[in-house]
Amino acid sequence: MMSEKLFLLPGDGIGTEIMAEVVKLIEWLNAAGKTDFTYESGLVGGCAYDACGEAISEADMAKALAADAVIFGAVGGPKWDDVPYEQRPEAGLLRLRKDLQLFANLRPAICYPALADASALKRELVEGLDILIVRELTGGVYFGEPKEITELGNGQKRAVDTQVYESYEIDRICRVAFDLARTRGKLVHSADKKNVMKSGVLWDEVAHQVARDYTDVTFEHILADNCAMQLVRNPKQFDVIVTDNLFGDILSDAAAMLTGSLGMLPSASLGAPDPSTGKRKALYEPVHGSAPDIAGKGVANPIAMVASFAMALRYSFNMVELADQVEAAIAGVLGDGLRSADIMQDGCRQVGTEEMGAAIIAKLSA
Ligand code: NAD
Repeated sequence: MMSEKLFLLPGDGIGTEIMAEVVKLIEWLNAAGKTDFTYESGLVGGCAYDACGEAISEADMAKALAADAVIFGAVGGPKWDDVPYEQRPEAGLLRLRKDLQLFANLRPAICYPALADASALKRELVEGLDILIVRELTGGVYFGEPKEITELGNGQKRAVDTQVYESYEIDRICRVAFDLARTRGKLVHSADKKNVMKSGVLWDEVAHQVARDYTDVTFEHILADNCAMQLVRNPKQFDVIVTDNLFGDILSDAAAMLTGSLGMLPSASLGAPDPSTGKRKALYEPVHGSAPDIAGKGVANPIAMVASFAMALRYSFNMVELADQVEAAIAGVLGDGLRSADIMQDGCRQVGTEEMGAAIIAKLSA
C-alpha cells in the first residue's frame, strides 16, 4: 500500500478539539492496517497569526500544496476580530482555496435516520435523504469585475456586481458533478436561471454538452428558484445538483438545514485533476466555524469533522468502502442514542467531544 500524505490544519477554537478526534481515527485506521496515512499538522487562522503574523505561513502553504489532502478544522474567534484585514483568520482559508485552485465545493446533505425528527421537514420527506450539491467556488458574481459602488452625483449611488462565467469553468464543474453522480444515484440536476440570465444560457448549453459524454447518467435542467422550492417540497427527488457560486451558496445552505445541526455538516473542495497523476488537490472541512462560545469545554460535536474526513477517504483516496463504514459508524452511534449537546433529544444520552469520537471508533471496530 502506498503511503498517503495528509496535512492537518486544526485552526482555532473547537477546531483543535474536533481535529483531535480525527487524529485518533487516523491512528486507529493505520493500526488496523486499513490505511497507511502519514500526517503532519500546521497552523492556520488566528493561531497562525499569533505565531507568525500571517493567517497561514509560507511553509505551511507549501505543505498544503504537497499533501494528498488537507484536513481543515475551523478558524476565527473574538481574539482576532481587530487584526488587519489581510491577516484575518479567514484569509488563511481563502489563500488555501486560491492557491490549491479549489473550484468545486461539495456539500452533501445526508439525513441520518436517528435525526430525522430533528429536521424542520416531516420525517417521511427527509428520512434516507442523500443529496450532493456541487457548487462552483472560484467564479461568478462574487469575483466578476466590475464590482463597485459609484456616486451618481445626484444623491444617488449605483452598485454593480458582475456575473461572469467562461465555458471552461462550467465544463470542469459539470464534469465533477457527472463523475460523482456515476458513483452515486446517476442523476444530475443543473440549476441556473437561463430564463433571465445570459450566464445561465451558457451554463445550460455547456452542461448539455458535458451530459453527452455521460450517457449512463440522467441529466435534468432545473431553474434555480424552482430547485429551492423542490428542495423543501420533495428533496429526495435529487441526487447531485450542480450550480454556480451564488445559487450554490444559497441552495447548499437550504439543503444542509434539511438535515439538522451545523455540527453535522461536512464539506469538500476539489481542484482540477493533475494531468500526469489524475490526483486532485483537495481540502476537507466542516461547514461550521470555530464556535468560540463552546471552545475549550469539550462539548463540541466532532461529527462534521469526522464526516469531512470520510469525504477525504471517498474522494481523495477512493476508499469508498471505508468511507461508507465511517459514515455507518456515525449513523450507528446516533442510532444508539448518543448525542452531543447541539443535537440533544429527549431519551438520548449526552456525551462530549471525546466520548463521541471514541464511540465512532468503537463502532468501526465492532
Ligand atoms: P459557528 O459555526 O462557529 O457557530 C455557530 C453556532 O453553532 C454556535 O452557537 C456554536 O456553538 C454552534 N456550533 C458550531 N459548530 C458546532 C459543533 N461542532 N458542535 C456544537 N455546536 C457547534 O459560527 P459563528 O459563531 O458565526 O462564528 C464563530 C467564528 O467562526 C467566527 O470567528 C467566524 O468568523 C468563524 N467562522 C469560521 C468558519 C471556517 O473556519 N470555515 C466558518 C464560519 C465561521
